[in-house]
Amino acid sequence: MPTYKTKGIIIKRSDFGEADKLITIYTDTEGKIRTKAKGIRWILSRNRGHLELFNYSDLVIANGKEIDTLISAYTIESFKNIRNSLKKTALAYYFAELCDKLTAEKEKNNKIFDLVLEVFRALDKNEPKEEIVRYYEINLLLALGYQPELGLCVHCRKALQPINNYFSCKLGGIVCPACSTKIDPRSVRISKDALKTLRFFLSYNLNTVLKLKVTLEINNELKNVCEKFLRYIAEKEFKSTKFIKEIDNLFKEL
Ligand SMILES: [Zn+2]
Repeated sequence: MPTYKTKGIIIKRSDFGEADKLITIYTDTEGKIRTKAKGIRWILSRNRGHLELFNYSDLVIANGKEIDTLISAYTIESFKNIRNSLKKTALAYYFAELCDKLTAEKEKNNKIFDLVLEVFRALDKNEPKEEIVRYYEINLLLALGYQPELGLCVHCRKALQPINNYFSCKLGGIVCPACSTKIDPRSVRISKDALKTLRFFLSYNLNTVLKLKVTLEINNELKNVCEKFLRYIAEKEFKSTKFIKEIDNLFKEL
């Protein structure tokens, strides 16, 4: 059987038949992959501890007709601080599930891989701040190809005034007050400071973002925008009520 080497973060584990495990991994070379880990082999093997959820590991995988098989795994980073905190673990689950639900199998995307690794490292090292969640959500949308227009009104193309503007999920960016009433009455109000913060989240890396002081009010505004945009994209892309419910439950669990 031909094999390949890759590196990846384990984003999901579930049972596969009686003894085997199905391990979903976001890798740097293949994007998201699902692999089978054969039970007995792994239980008896030294590799066992390397299959924990959220581990970042070196992997050897064998190509299969229907499903690839995990041959070996070796932990590069295990994110112990995430495991030792309930709040951090809950956020890590959210990051992993959102990644799993919004990506297709075997579509390489370095931006997503780098982002997932970046947020896991930040979550391990820092307090479980809301900023990490917002940064992840907005940059995941960007990496998936939904870069929101934040500079001009997406409809009339005029420069935005430093006042309350609106975020339109339908148009994928900010609309001025006049256009929001005309074009998309369902658009969400966004203050000038929240908009500035959103631009910052898209322009700087997470270490820099975490130095920024974000008030509770701004964070709540951004939470609302990110959730609505993610839900809108999910509805548009997947058109599955089961999937939308799952996304809604994810938000509720946060
Ligand atoms: Zn406008």
